[in-house]
Amino acid sequence: MTVLEKGNITIHTENIFPIIKKSLYTDHEIFLRELVSNAVDAIAKLKMVAYVEGLGELEDPEIVIAVNKEQKTLSVSDNGIGMTADEVKKYINQVAFSSAEEFIQKYQKEDPNALIGHFGLGFYSSFMVAKQVEIETLSYQAGAQAVHWSCDGSPQFTLEESDRSQRGTTVTLTLQDEELEYLESARIRQLIKTYCDFLAVAIKFEGEVLNKQRSLWKESPQSLKDEDYLEFYRYLYPFQEDPLLWVHLNTDYPFLLNGVLFFPKLKPDVDVTSGQIRLYCNQVFVSDNCKEIIPDFLLPLRGVLDSPDIPLNVSRSSLTNDRTVRRIADYIARKIGDRLKSLYSENRVEYIRCWQDVGTFVKYGSLKDEKFKKQVEDLIIFRTTAKLGAVTAEQPQVEVQTTEGDVWQATTPAQSKDSQGDSYTTLKEYLERNQARHENRVYYCTDPSAQATYLQLYQNQGLEVLYMDSFIDTNYFIPFLEREYDKTQFVRVDAELEQSLLDADQAGEIVDPTTQKSRNDSIKELFEKSLNNPKINIRTQSLKSDAPQGTPPAMILLPEAMRRFREMTALMQQQELSFPEEHVLVINTAHPLIDNLLQLSKGRIIQTQGPSPTAELVDLICHHVYDLALMTYKALDPEGMKAFVERSNQVLTRLTQS
Ligand code: ADP
Repeated sequence: MTVLEKGNITIHTENIFPIIKKSLYTDHEIFLRELVSNAVDAIAKLKMVAYVEGLGELEDPEIVIAVNKEQKTLSVSDNGIGMTADEVKKYINQVAFSSAEEFIQKYQKEDPNALIGHFGLGFYSSFMVAKQVEIETLSYQAGAQAVHWSCDGSPQFTLEESDRSQRGTTVTLTLQDEELEYLESARIRQLIKTYCDFLAVAIKFEGEVLNKQRSLWKESPQSLKDEDYLEFYRYLYPFQEDPLLWVHLNTDYPFLLNGVLFFPKLKPDVDVTSGQIRLYCNQVFVSDNCKEIIPDFLLPLRGVLDSPDIPLNVSRSSLTNDRTVRRIADYIARKIGDRLKSLYSENRVEYIRCWQDVGTFVKYGSLKDEKFKKQVEDLIIFRTTAKLGAVTAEQPQVEVQTTEGDVWQATTPAQSKDSQGDSYTTLKEYLERNQARHENRVYYCTDPSAQATYLQLYQNQGLEVLYMDSFIDTNYFIPFLEREYDKTQFVRVDAELEQSLLDADQAGEIVDPTTQKSRNDSIKELFEKSLNNPKINIRTQSLKSDAPQGTPPAMILLPEAMRRFREMTALMQQQELSFPEEHVLVINTAHPLIDNLLQLSKGRIIQTQGPSPTAELVDLICHHVYDLALMTYKALDPEGMKAFVERSNQVLTRLTQS
């Protein structure tokens, strides 16, 4: 065989091979991705020249991976464009080398673990795992001479003629003894599945095609059906619930970006900080952690982003400051906003169905990103106690201008109800609707079952209450809305009693001639004495009701500011929120039970001095009323529960005696 050349690879820095071997410690496995990518490129180039030069029909493109355990070799073959001897000299000895050198120089300055994709090393990354690398190649060009290149990891190489007769290239690695894992079938399969699954060329190993090949995100959205997206999602995230909706990203200016992002159904335990979007570069998998590229608030999204314009051989920290990356992040946020807008106007029922989960993103996004907030502020909805009908044709149809300039028109009449008949409203609508009764005040409830008594009171008086029951609502979103909507105040239903819940006529000025005290004073005194706890602030109020039993005899109130302060403190100190010792106990003076109790106690004052059976009963009932009020608020602790049961039995015994 004619030796064409023996030579030294020109080195500008000292010797990169030891560096390639040792420094690139973390991710040796990427060598396979690099070799397969080169093979795919070679096939794409052949297609191109075949088209331009009219080479006629080509055989099916394929990449074959083979191992030889005895010889400790792993090879990657393609039937692509191939190389002539000159091309090997140029592309392998010079181009590949200089790009590797450049990469190494950059790499040494960066933290290897922080590099996003370890891209850029290309062909020379094979020296991370191989003690010898050989190339057998035959160019597509007519009359080309096949060549064999070999290099043992030193800067010396040999190049000689070869008798290869098939067009294309085979790269054969003789593995280092520490790297024999790359001879294992399972390891190779796993690597191909991870990195090369969506490459458009069949990758064969042990007679089997290993990769899926179809990359949905590169296809035109017009040609895809819902089922295609769902099938793709199930493929990427098996055994998960179907996604709620998705956005297909597809742009080539001012950067190339393709991708499909899905809104998953959020589980309460979803880790919103890690991110599950996979990053690809021309269908080659790069990383499944691309926090730096997408806006924070979209991290819980899933799916695929593919862009050759994202610099991959830089550290993660410099990536965050990269202009293109920032523009890509903005673009993604804008597209998500557009998608939500169009869904809001086109299919309100569907929008509401997704809202429970999507709402969290939207709220978080509004907090984090001013531009996004502007885009979605009119799409933020709240479940309300008001019964709102379907929005009919007389009402203005929502016309949505997307950032791309197309206008989406509502095709189905927008509805503000979901399939369960719950109604939803925007804050603006709420404020307008309730302006006359309580201007700038929003009543809300965070826990419909714990706050059921309070809700009932508000509802009976026709007051509208919003459900704000997610973590983000109470801790962040309410204060945010109060800043956004000037003068607007959010008041939880158990914070105070709205004026219209109270009966002004029975304000309690019936003065007892013997004691000179108002009825309210007497009731207050009665409870103060009985409960004997200065931390309980006892108030008397007459609750409006259509039926005598329609309101509770007593209620607990936690003033809004105090409660929020405690919640904030608990959140910051990561402590569980306890029920505060200091709280308000409202005694409903309009309730017959309270009236009976007052009469009973009067008997005590007039008829007996000191403790008497009646006085004891009054005492027991006061405690009982307080416990009942507490119980609608929170579960009693074991001590409290024991006392409550004992007391209940005592009361019942007393009541059945006579
Ligand atoms: P990159 O792929 O980023 O250009 P590489 O170092 O991986 O850098 O490869 C250098 C060059 O060697 C490629 O640009 C290509 O021209 C050539 N090359 C590498 N592998 C093949 C192959 N399998 N078939 C044809 N040419 C190849």
